[in-house]
Amino acid sequence: MKIQMVDVVGQYKKIKPEVDAAVHRVLDSGNFILGKEVGELERNVAGYLGTSHAVGCASGTDALQVAMMALGIGPGDEVITTPFTFVATAETIAILGARPVYVDIDPKTFNIDVSKIETAITPRTKAIIPVHLYGQACDMDALMAIAQKHKLRVIEDSAQALGAQYKGKKICGFGDIGCISFFPSKNLGAFGDAGMVVTNDVDLAARLRMIIVHGSKERYYHEILGVNSRLDTIQAAILLVKLNYLDQWNNARLQAANRYDSLLTGSGVITPHRAPDRNHIFHQYTIRTPKRDALAQHLNEKGIPFGVYYPVPLHIQKAFSMTGGGVGDFPVSEEAAGDVLSLPMHTELDESQQEFITNTIRKFLG
Ligand SMILES: *Cc1c(COP(=O)(O)O)cnc(C)c1O
Repeated sequence: MKIQMVDVVGQYKKIKPEVDAAVHRVLDSGNFILGKEVGELERNVAGYLGTSHAVGCASGTDALQVAMMALGIGPGDEVITTPFTFVATAETIAILGARPVYVDIDPKTFNIDVSKIETAITPRTKAIIPVHLYGQACDMDALMAIAQKHKLRVIEDSAQALGAQYKGKKICGFGDIGCISFFPSKNLGAFGDAGMVVTNDVDLAARLRMIIVHGSKERYYHEILGVNSRLDTIQAAILLVKLNYLDQWNNARLQAANRYDSLLTGSGVITPHRAPDRNHIFHQYTIRTPKRDALAQHLNEKGIPFGVYYPVPLHIQKAFSMTGGGVGDFPVSEEAAGDVLSLPMHTELDESQQEFITNTIRKFLG
């Protein structure tokens, strides 16, 4: 049985005529940079999320970087996030000369443990970057209360959670800026790199719009330092088509997660926790087992793909030695890094594939 971790081609085939027509319209127009589809996508994503502004950029990583640039974060500043995230979250903090300050995660949701944030705040703290990991929102009410009390900015790393809700409201608009990735494997994936920043603040939106084009409003007149990080028109055209399917696809992931939950009942693995006031959109379906490494090897032998997100927390990564962390500093993250395993999860996953995967797991652990 051929099972894929993410089936981008299978999904494309179902909407091929629409996508191909959209791409050909861009090819025929010749407007490859900031063509009209980019603006359309920005309006549609803002509408989808309920934010007032959206600005396309070249990737989710760039979204984080330009968000921090717009907020004036730089040398001497500290930014709080977790060490259990994709490298980009902390990498962009450090690239701007600021310092990532980590807070451990909640063992159930894998998201920042809000009860530990206040002890990490210093006079240099400028912002908090909650990461809505695996497709489930952080505890935003509690987090925003702390941010307001200490006058901190909040940048939501929503790369894995486009469409996820917290208490009935979509994430991305809780903080100052929401950062989206359209990396092909994300819930809304382009056919290459792409990203977006969203905000409800008109001045921040104007700054973001300048920063992505070399800090200029008018070409060759540069008001602030910026970067070259535009969302490609071809990608925007593809994403415009795909955005119409996002809720349906997130729902397909939820149905697949429900099937995994019941197929894995009593198997000995810990299935994903769903916080009651949030809707998980299952970017990843991540199980936990102390026998993770042995199970991983077994799945390999059986030809079942899986992922380990993430095997090494950022505070013990070589590239982040400047933050001075060591083994034992963030035990909950370290434990998760040692026992998480993400199973195949995508919109094309069917019941027989899931039965094969879960039977293989049950037999091995049983
Ligand atoms: C994917 C991802 C990013 C980076 O997005 P890219 O588009 O790959 O640059 C940032 N943060 C998290 C949590 C991610 O999963």
